[in-house]
Amino acid sequence: MKQVADAIKGSTRICGVIGDPIGHTLSPMIHNTLSQVLGQEMTYVPFHVRSEGLDAAIQGAHALGIRGLNVTMPHKQEVMKALVAIEPWAQEVGAVNTLVYEDAGYKGYNTDGYGVQKTLEQLGCECEGQNVAIIGSGGAAYAAAFLLAKKAGALHLFNRTKEKAELLATKLRSTVQIPITVYSLDEVVHEPMYLVVQTTGVGMGSLAGQMPECAAHLLDQAQFAMDMIYSPWETTFLADARAKGVRCTNGFGMLYYQAIRAYELMNETVCDAEVVTQIKEEIEMYMERR
Ligand code: NAP
Repeated sequence: MKQVADAIKGSTRICGVIGDPIGHTLSPMIHNTLSQVLGQEMTYVPFHVRSEGLDAAIQGAHALGIRGLNVTMPHKQEVMKALVAIEPWAQEVGAVNTLVYEDAGYKGYNTDGYGVQKTLEQLGCECEGQNVAIIGSGGAAYAAAFLLAKKAGALHLFNRTKEKAELLATKLRSTVQIPITVYSLDEVVHEPMYLVVQTTGVGMGSLAGQMPECAAHLLDQAQFAMDMIYSPWETTFLADARAKGVRCTNGFGMLYYQAIRAYELMNETVCDAEVVTQIKEEIEMYMERR
């Protein structure tokens, strides 16, 4: 009984994540574990919100006093219209993944770039002045591209639909001066890449066991690789990178660290670094064994 009474009280803060679909999300596991270990009265729940109900969901969540929301596919851009303020970095990237309660409405943030930055940091990958390849030009590519454009010496963008990569390149060129080149997936580039970031959905779901056409060639001469996919835990892209001696990581670190930053923003706190590392290792062990 005590366990039930302690779980949710009148004073419990509610946070959550909205998306469509939402059944696969790992965010509740990360946020609820953090709040339990840190001894904070916060419960985090998933909400299935379809595009046609997005605006009503945001207004309703605010009226209910929900302290913070993460936003996942397909709402990261559309949600920006429903906010009272947006931090400059999220404006630059053109997407929001975290909403924080303010009296007048929600303020939007983008913590995906922080997730990529921490993941690369832990991999020992410092991109200053280096050649960086990004495969894909969808939503996930944007945070990585805007972050890496500020560090890399040159960016090489590969995408199935070349026009979408051109659009990303145009947006990047308005904020940075480095050379940015666009390729389709079947183009062969002879310049060695320091880092290759795989951001497409190729490697998961019905595309499991596959990798983008350009990947094998790019990995031949790369030093570091990151796949944004974390389910499967090791994609064909990562297996190929590992076999070639490339230091590599999957997308769990990105997911985890964007969640840590979101947790800190929503709960106006700073998470203890040791706790953050310990929970990450525990979740990774659980995920690897699944
Ligand atoms: P998105 O906006 O729909 O973009 C999908 C990207 O994949 C586009 O570049 C698309 O190319 C490409 N693509 C899809 N199917 C393809 C195929 N059959 N062959 C070649 N290219 C293909 O999706 P997203 O939000 O960027 O997500 C992409 C991946 O990142 C997903 O696997 C997602 O789970 C992962 N992700 C991970 C995190 C994390 O925290 N680790 C966060 C966000 C997303 P076109 O432009 O030609 O359509």
